[in-house]
Amino acid sequence: MRALETSLLDWQKRYGTEEACAQALTKQRWSERFRCPRCGHDHGYIISTRHSCECSKCHYQTSLTSGTLFHSTNLPLTKWFWAIYLSASDKGGISAVRLSKQIEVSWITACRILRKIRIAMGHRDSIYRLHDLIEIDDALVGGRRSGKRGRGAEGKTPILVAIENRGKCAGFIAMQQVSAVTHETVAKFVQCHLPPSQLVRSDALASLTEIGKTSIMPHG
Ligand SMILES: [Zn+2]
Repeated sequence: MRALETSLLDWQKRYGTEEACAQALTKQRWSERFRCPRCGHDHGYIISTRHSCECSKCHYQTSLTSGTLFHSTNLPLTKWFWAIYLSASDKGGISAVRLSKQIEVSWITACRILRKIRIAMGHRDSIYRLHDLIEIDDALVGGRRSGKRGRGAEGKTPILVAIENRGKCAGFIAMQQVSAVTHETVAKFVQCHLPPSQLVRSDALASLTEIGKTSIMPHG
């Protein structure tokens, strides 16, 4: 498996609890410090069961999921995070049947989750700018048609995946559907999702590694 460098155990350590998932969303929403949108106070606490963060001064609750692919979900965030992991870690693309068994949801729910994840892959605004060390790789989703595995497999949609690596801390991942894995699409992906001067590590395609090197230079 090359799509994600993160192992299953590492993912479990990072996103194994609702609290940890909510924490990751909090970091994504307020990259530096929580700020209450109502009173401007800079301290709040997470209410993971409500997928929100409550201001410790005025008690206003800010949704952590609005504007993300988890918007108005009733499912535990851990199931969503596992769905992302399973989608991104299987080059052949996980089927709804398999996902439904793995995260213990109905087939209909699994279909809905996979559709949302695929939409998010191609939707810039719902994807996160990533910091720290980022690992980038390509993966193929969709289609269960048999064929040669890897790049260029018939009926598959290539996607690019970047995963934030903060060592022991939680990170985030970005995925985007591309027409093909080329120098150009990888460069665009890097520019769109990664901060300038970003250190990128990739042991995927040589072209990805090259782009990784060029991305160390600030984007004009
Ligand atoms: Zn407040």
